[in-house]
Amino acid sequence: MSTSTRGTSTTPAACRHCPVPEREHMQRWTQAAGWHTWTPPTDAQRLARMRARQAQRQETA
Ligand SMILES: [Zn+2]
Repeated sequence: MSTSTRGTSTTPAACRHCPVPEREHMQRWTQAAGWHTWTPPTDAQRLARMRARQAQRQETA
C-alpha cells in the first residue's frame, strides 16, 4: 500500500528550491537556499515533477 498522503505531490510550477507554488510562496526559508522568493523550476525539475504526478495518478486510479 502507498503511504503517501494527499498533497505530497509537487506541482510542476512549484519553486525551484521548495515545493511551494508561486501564488502561495511569498518569502520562504530552506536550508539549501536560505531566504528566497519564488524561483522558476528547471526543465529537469518540471519533468521530474510531472512524472511523479503521473505515477501517483496511476497508483490511485
Ligand atoms: Zn521556494
